[in-house]
Amino acid sequence: MKITRITVYQIALPLEHPYWLSGGRLKFEVLDATLVKIETGTGLTGWGEGTPWGHTYVPAHGPGIRAGIETMAPFIIGLDPRRGLEIERAMDLALPGHLYAKSPIDMACWDIAGQAAGLSIADLMGGGSRTPRPIASSVGAKTVEETRAVIERYRQRGYVAHSVKIGGDIERDIARVRDVESLRRDGEIVLYDVNRGWTRQQALRVMSATEDLNVMFEQPCESLDDIAAIAGKYAAPVSVDESLVTLQDAARIARDGLAEVFGIKLNRVGGLTKAARMRDIALAHGIDMFVMATGGSVLADAEALHLAATIPDANCHAVWACQDMITLDIAGGRGPRNIDGHLHLTEAPGLGVHPDEDVLGDPVGVYG
Ligand code: MG
Repeated sequence: MKITRITVYQIALPLEHPYWLSGGRLKFEVLDATLVKIETGTGLTGWGEGTPWGHTYVPAHGPGIRAGIETMAPFIIGLDPRRGLEIERAMDLALPGHLYAKSPIDMACWDIAGQAAGLSIADLMGGGSRTPRPIASSVGAKTVEETRAVIERYRQRGYVAHSVKIGGDIERDIARVRDVESLRRDGEIVLYDVNRGWTRQQALRVMSATEDLNVMFEQPCESLDDIAAIAGKYAAPVSVDESLVTLQDAARIARDGLAEVFGIKLNRVGGLTKAARMRDIALAHGIDMFVMATGGSVLADAEALHLAATIPDANCHAVWACQDMITLDIAGGRGPRNIDGHLHLTEAPGLGVHPDEDVLGDPVGVYG
């Protein structure tokens, strides 16, 4: 089996509500999604998606995905999509770095490999748990009152896990953490995501002021050096998300004890192949995980679910799915959907969901 053609589509995914990153920074209202179809000449076709969370969140750029695929395409056409390590090495040779551009190719190849094997991606990766994975909401940076309203809106949709964006004015951050905790229900999972919004001293002030609550913070400061500098000076568990990009990052975090939780975003780390190694480093070091695609359609949500299903139930806190935040459905209700706040892995082979091509418009690139 060989990759014979790669077709690239660009589509705008509008958000239902405008979104602000932590600290009220960087409002945006639409996601720039890249959909990739890989054909093999055997009748098997795989689909991948790369949808950065805007281009202001981390170094990932919608048009950069398309440009990266154009550069890498000649190096992977003709390879067997089931031989994922060869695909990965070819991409890394053709274009060092630029992991976010590689993840849709990796995803489409896993989709084909799963279909060829008659197995879901999670099962092909070694075995997928069918325990439904809670979906974490994403509660943008707001006032205390707005935070309450957004969490309640998600609760109405069944959500039991919430990622509350903080990281602005620290007095307001403390107030919001205290308010959300006062309303937290039994069994709810709440992560306070700072999105790099604090300096070291701001992080220590908020984390000390909320120490009695024993809550978890994600990415409190800009870099791993910052997080290392304050490690040991607070009691709260920490998740590292934006600073977990490469396998070397994962090794450092684990070795130096910089976090108790990994927030693995598949688009950021370069796809399932590379993320699986981070999962194993985490499991070997007693580190739990949240798994996310980064953003995007139900295809991206499905990819995240497959990786999450390969994590033991006890070590996987939640997945993050974007489907309830966007107003365009490119797959007509198919694929893993929010059922009572959870995603359910089926027995469908490969990714388990493909888009309706007529929703995607004309391709922006065809290679091969
Ligand atoms: Mg985060």
